[in-house]
Amino acid sequence: MDGLSGTHTSPADRRRPGPIVKAAVLVLALALLVFVGIRLYAWSEQAREARVVVLVNSWNDVDHSGFTPKLRELGDGFRVDAACRKPLNELLEACREAGFDPVLTAAYRSREEQQALFEQTVEGLLGQYGGDRQAAEEAAERAVARPGASEHELGLAVDLESRDGRSEPMYQWLQENAWRYGFILRYPRGGEEITGEDYTPGHFRYVGMSAAGQIYALQITLEEYMGMFFSESAQIIFE
Ligand SMILES: [Zn+2]
Repeated sequence: MDGLSGTHTSPADRRRPGPIVKAAVLVLALALLVFVGIRLYAWSEQAREARVVVLVNSWNDVDHSGFTPKLRELGDGFRVDAACRKPLNELLEACREAGFDPVLTAAYRSREEQQALFEQTVEGLLGQYGGDRQAAEEAAERAVARPGASEHELGLAVDLESRDGRSEPMYQWLQENAWRYGFILRYPRGGEEITGEDYTPGHFRYVGMSAAGQIYALQITLEEYMGMFFSESAQIIFE
């Protein structure tokens, strides 16, 4: 006869976790899952942001940028990289809400299209430079960038114009607000020596919210931003 019946628990039973322990383990596991999920999301966001912070200019070639555009249709035959399609539409919408009439005149350009545009610009400038092709090419480089040096080949740059002719106030609005959508005025007035390009009020470049916010707040160019944050040898001193 076994007198230990009823409330008796065997050693095996005692090793089984009680309901409180089980609940605690479940809560911990859930917390860990949430934490890992948040970290993964943050990393993917950072990776998304970092992907578009690419420097292309006359001495940093598209081919060496390591950037491959994921082209998406914008309508009217224009294409941009997937990262800036939505922000661009939001920027244009906000610009319209502010009372302006922006129109997109350029977005992604293939190497061939950039080549054709460059040659057409050189031809147009030849007369102005008395047939001096080298001088015309240098001027064209400052105006539209030579093939392989244009941000339009990244699909991260757009040219905007005003349909109703009120260019100045619209460009002013864009300069002050584009950063909210991840865009910067890429070739600002006074930045010609740093960017290598003439002041271009309608050329906006997508660099993501974080970089755009800092570039706007510090009133610097993308070259200076890259020098500050991405190159150990470069130093920018603000007075
Ligand atoms: Zn442009």
